Amino acid sequence: IRSIVIIGGGLAGAHAAQALRERSYDGALTLLAAEQHPPYERPPLSKGILLGEATADSAVVHPLSWYDEQGIDLRCGVRAESIDREAREVLLAGGERLGYDRLLLAPGANPRRLRSLEVEGADVRYLRTLDDSVALKERLSGRLLIIGGGWIGLEVAAAARAAGGTVTVAVRGELPLVQVLGREVAEVFAGLHREHGVDLRTQVEVKAVRREGEVTIAELSDGSVLEVDTILVGIGAAPAIELAAAAGLPGTEGIEVDAALRTVDPRVCAAGDVALHDHPRLGRMRVDHWDAAIEQGKHVAGTLLGSEEPYERLPYFFTDQYDLGMEYVGHPGERACEEVRLLGDVPGRVFRAYWLRDGTVVAGMHVNDWDAIEEVRRLVGGDAADLPG
Ligand code: FAD
Repeated sequence: IRSIVIIGGGLAGAHAAQALRERSYDGALTLLAAEQHPPYERPPLSKGILLGEATADSAVVHPLSWYDEQGIDLRCGVRAESIDREAREVLLAGGERLGYDRLLLAPGANPRRLRSLEVEGADVRYLRTLDDSVALKERLSGRLLIIGGGWIGLEVAAAARAAGGTVTVAVRGELPLVQVLGREVAEVFAGLHREHGVDLRTQVEVKAVRREGEVTIAELSDGSVLEVDTILVGIGAAPAIELAAAAGLPGTEGIEVDAALRTVDPRVCAAGDVALHDHPRLGRMRVDHWDAAIEQGKHVAGTLLGSEEPYERLPYFFTDQYDLGMEYVGHPGERACEEVRLLGDVPGRVFRAYWLRDGTVVAGMHVNDWDAIEEVRRLVGGDAADLPG
């Protein structure tokens, strides 16, 4: 193998590049990054950067000089336009063609949009990139309406309250995060935000946004109206499959890859938010979390160099909101769990939770119980009878 191209200068792409060099791959290595920034961490975008505790510089995975030292041709602000799999070339804007022996697709995901609300003159935003975060920071002390009570929406709500903003969060369901966490644990998050002064509106949708002179008005499905300065839409992200699809690589919910993260074309792999992979124990899944992007990036380096080893790591996720930190391990899948076992002090927000199905622990988390993560990792995937308490 003399030439590897990575499309996507994010976490997965950067860690794959690093792991390739660590595995002694010394051929040509090009990393195409559509954004102007070198690869960076996204978790601070909805936390540290908004809170003023992190900066663009502290969020980068490696300083620019590292790419030079490693002989990695990092091209910031350069987008791959298409892939010619027969010629084994990536086409760039301007007509340049980059040949490859192996290709990694790590283009991440794009926020799902609510175009009907993107009314002229209204400040309707999304949060995916460093530039989005830096711009959003300036808006946090005003009147903010957050549509969607997912992780990003709630983290931004916490940052905006810290900045003294007036925050309304509108969610469709009966509680934020209820689909992921179930009612009991979702209530902990709802209570946390209400205590911190967030106006949490449940079972509502934002039906329309209109401008009255210089004022932005949001109309909610319960008939209420809100005067707002900024609207942040946080309703999830869709995997960036377009390039792969145009190149004939299958997958609508993500680029389909096998257990080793290889597409149907053995020269082409995918990793990170975009990869819909076959987990040997848990089945087909796409994990859009920080840990998976890093670990799949490292793993796929081996696959690009010929390894057949499956990627077997359990999904892991963390969040920080106000003084609440939590870590979550597992993948409950679509089917409902029979029981959520709660251990510890739930009202005091120091506890562990385990989700049980068919006698198995399918997921576990801790809230503010920082010694518990090893126990959680050990128990997830095992027999429910082994749970303490
Ligand atoms: P990305 O990080 O999205 O990187 C992909 C890059 O590829 C992008 O920069 C994109 O511009 C570029 N690209 C796309 N197409 C092309 C092309 N054609 N040519 C060149 N470049 C291209 N996870 C957690 O576990 N905990 C958290 O607390 C957490 N917080 C988050 C907060 C925010 C605001 C966001 C957005 C995500 C958060 N995540 C968190 C999720 C985590 O950051 C992602 O799972 C991770 O960044 C995915 O990495 P990736 O490399 O697959 O994609």
